[in-house]
Amino acid sequence: MSNSLLDALTAAELHCPVIVAGHPDYDRYRRIWNGIADRRPLAIVRPQDVEDVQKAVCAAALCGALLAVRGGGHSLPGLSTCNDGLVIDLSLIRSVVIDNHAQTVDVGGGALLGDLDRATIPKGYIVPAGVISHTGIGGLTLGGGMGWASRKYGLTIDSLLGAEIVLASGDVTWTSPTWNPELFWAIRGGGGNFGVVTRFRFQLHPFSGIVAGQWIYPMEQARKVLSALRDLARGQSRDFTVSFTASQSGINVTAVWSGDTGLASAALSPFGALADGARGGLENLSYLTLQSRNDVAFAWSRRYYAKGGFWSDISDQAIEHIIGAMAHAPTFDCEIYAIQLGGAVGDMADDATAYTGRDAGFYWLSEPIWDDIADDDRCIEWGRTTGRLLSDPSIAGNYVNEQGDTGSNIARDAYGPEKYQRLARLKARLDPANLFRLNQNIEPQE
Ligand SMILES: Cc1cc2nc3c(=O)[nH]c(=O)nc-3n(C[C@H](O)[C@H](O)[C@H](O)COP(=O)(O)OP(=O)(O)OC[C@H]3O[C@@H](n4cnc5c(N)ncnc54)[C@H](O)[C@@H]3O)c2cc1C
Repeated sequence: MSNSLLDALTAAELHCPVIVAGHPDYDRYRRIWNGIADRRPLAIVRPQDVEDVQKAVCAAALCGALLAVRGGGHSLPGLSTCNDGLVIDLSLIRSVVIDNHAQTVDVGGGALLGDLDRATIPKGYIVPAGVISHTGIGGLTLGGGMGWASRKYGLTIDSLLGAEIVLASGDVTWTSPTWNPELFWAIRGGGGNFGVVTRFRFQLHPFSGIVAGQWIYPMEQARKVLSALRDLARGQSRDFTVSFTASQSGINVTAVWSGDTGLASAALSPFGALADGARGGLENLSYLTLQSRNDVAFAWSRRYYAKGGFWSDISDQAIEHIIGAMAHAPTFDCEIYAIQLGGAVGDMADDATAYTGRDAGFYWLSEPIWDDIADDDRCIEWGRTTGRLLSDPSIAGNYVNEQGDTGSNIARDAYGPEKYQRLARLKARLDPANLFRLNQNIEPQE
């Protein structure tokens, strides 16, 4: 099979080189963000155009090769690389083109959040996305996409107007609410199961800046801080979003205001008085700074695991589990994070997109971070156990994008039986051989 894949790629006469072991850039391009995903693909291609993506998809399909599709490379379980198969690395397809008249932006399938923000924010526009600038627009959008602007403008998929996608057949098609609408429903939450998106078109929203408050509280105050944060977060306007991170450094609270700046202090300041001992304050931070402030903490090549889920609210029980888990975190950088949802996220009906979980008040993550391979087992175990304790079975849905584990139950549990069947039927029609299976996989089923 290996020779046949390389033969098929050679015969396809791609415009880009086929990178194999021994190539000077092989080691650089085979790596993705998570250091634990240390895999050795047979070949890596880095297309610059849609035609090359089509040719590479056809070559993999022809040979039945394992195929990984890489956008920003942030897949937690390492699904954007593989051993022995083909990686289609989209990182050269990352143009960002704004149409001022239509108030839309076209974004290449391999663009990063930073590429999008740097193009839109200085022009007074925003597309709601995530919170770390080196995350890929591709994977983030296809799973849903949540961040600081979600309460105001919805998930990233709620601003998606259409997408250009290379199917398992090698055909390229457009999908939108009026063209291939079932596919459009599926890619808004269904992940990379249905093809390679080479271009996303998003609605732009007006954006005039933010004020942010950041405080760190001593861990001994965790119980008081988190219950007060929960009470204060309730009933806030859509211009407001709060997140917290519990770590060995304490409880880090970040509150962001994106409305009338004259009202920012009244909305944000109470989050600096949740308990005694807060350090920090309000800042007129640029949005680009906010988006890159944690880039280093989540640097490439460190070792990561995550298990996440939804809460309707922060329960007393969850607070106790957070305190308990942090007391025996295996490394200094292990953390538990949560970001407020609600607001515009809930405006879209749950059945309008594959994404499931619009009723959630918060999204949480148990995320161990470490550097030494010898810590793999205990860090992953801590992440899993903590994640199980924090899970709230009473709330429907889950977010496929931030799960460090894989397996057929992940997608089934995330979408629920009805949506999963609908996705599986479309998968059977568009990708019956499950070529796009390195994702939180939806198995083809009529
Ligand atoms: C540090 C960090 C911060 C994060 N922060 C947030 C956040 O704030 N909000 C949030 O919602 N999520 C967040 N995530 C989760 C993130 O959305 C997922 O990890 C997502 O998969 C990243 O996309 P990527 O393109 O970088 O990933 P990749 O590893 O490149 O791809 C992941 C999956 O998406 C598929 N894929 C990627 N691009 C394409 C494409 N163009 N066409 C078809 N399939 C594609 C791949 O097949 C693969 O299975 C974060 C993740 C990390 C690691």
